Amino acid sequence: VLATLAPVPSDEIFDLNRAYARDTFPQKVSLGVGVYRTDEGKPWPLPVVEKVEKKLLEENDPSRHEYTAIEGDIPFLELARDLMFGFDGKNASAEQEEAKKRIASVQAVAGTGANHLGGLFLATHMKPKNVWLSDPSWANHMTLWEMAGVPRKTYPYYEPKTRSLDFTGMMATLEAEAQEGDVVLLHACAHNPTGLDPTKEQWMEIADLCERKQLFPFFDSAYQGFASGSVVEDAWAVRYFFQHKPHMEMCVAQSFSKNFGLYGQRVGAFHYVTTVAGVDIRDTVVNNLCHLIRGEFSMGPRGGCSIVKKVLTSDELTAEWYEDLKVMSSRIKAMRQALYKELVKLQTPGTWEHIVNQNGMFSYTGLTPAQVTALKEKYHVYLLQSGRASISGLSEKNVAYVAQAIDDVVRN
Ligand code: PMP
Repeated sequence: VLATLAPVPSDEIFDLNRAYARDTFPQKVSLGVGVYRTDEGKPWPLPVVEKVEKKLLEENDPSRHEYTAIEGDIPFLELARDLMFGFDGKNASAEQEEAKKRIASVQAVAGTGANHLGGLFLATHMKPKNVWLSDPSWANHMTLWEMAGVPRKTYPYYEPKTRSLDFTGMMATLEAEAQEGDVVLLHACAHNPTGLDPTKEQWMEIADLCERKQLFPFFDSAYQGFASGSVVEDAWAVRYFFQHKPHMEMCVAQSFSKNFGLYGQRVGAFHYVTTVAGVDIRDTVVNNLCHLIRGEFSMGPRGGCSIVKKVLTSDELTAEWYEDLKVMSSRIKAMRQALYKELVKLQTPGTWEHIVNQNGMFSYTGLTPAQVTALKEKYHVYLLQSGRASISGLSEKNVAYVAQAIDDVVRN
């Protein structure tokens, strides 16, 4: 078999991480991987998560390592769905109860697994001619859809000159080229890698376009609550499509990696939204998803999902989680401001407002590949060749150093 294997390019983010770990320079800075870090550059297990971990340990539930159903932990899935679509878990109205019947939910292996499962499900049952990805998008979208065997096309998303969203280009391309039944992949909030999201008005136009041209919206929601600090605000687009386009099917890949800081626990869900509210239809969708799940991983992992479940079943713990979300999102926003201020102070050539205007974990800095290489070689500051910087790698201590480094590579 070795003779038939072609070399595969390695993953840039993981490579960068390894190079950073090997680097012995004391002032090195990692702006590569999209994980939250404290101002001391340390991982941050959320206080609410630590509290719940202790509780779970005390409870010592003897069934905690048992298998779940194939679709996963059902109470967890209901909570995940309610969080995503905005249902009141305890006092849902009759209308909301009916709307819940439009959503088939299963557990997946975090956001990546939910994207993959969704891709496989659509490829198997809907057989779309194409999937449309934003240019650029999270690099793994390409791989996932390649594995699902669906031809990939891209719609314009980023305007390098103004470092802003190319909404006109996006709409014009989808209008002219997307065909009925094509899938359109949309980042629910905090677009990775650009940090640029459509406005509410623009989301409404995207929803109209999808409805008119009968395109299938596939939302990737990896940052609910993490981006703005509000789980409502960050779910706005998904909820708008769900509520205002009841005659359109859609789906959502939901990750709990960033918003609960449960990266390696692989907590996620996949939700398929039908146009008809009915338990039978919902069960048929779930059963078809279960068939794929059974053949791939039998069921989603349990540990992290029991933490999320515990938090979301208690109003008190949920309120504490909201506070943790605010800590993370505020620190990231403060670091955007700090970097921007330093660059302005240094009068670094170019405009830098985009750093504060972008949203979420990342900034698409606009730095060129040559500048990115110089940052690494000369200053030991690590970011992706595309110029994407993970803002949470900045701190009060290193932001002036990073700004100086950027200033130097931009000038030289
Ligand atoms: N989608 C996007 C846009 C992401 O940025 C990420 C995390 N980098 C994911 C999905 C998946 O994350 P995970 O599999 O860790 O939940």
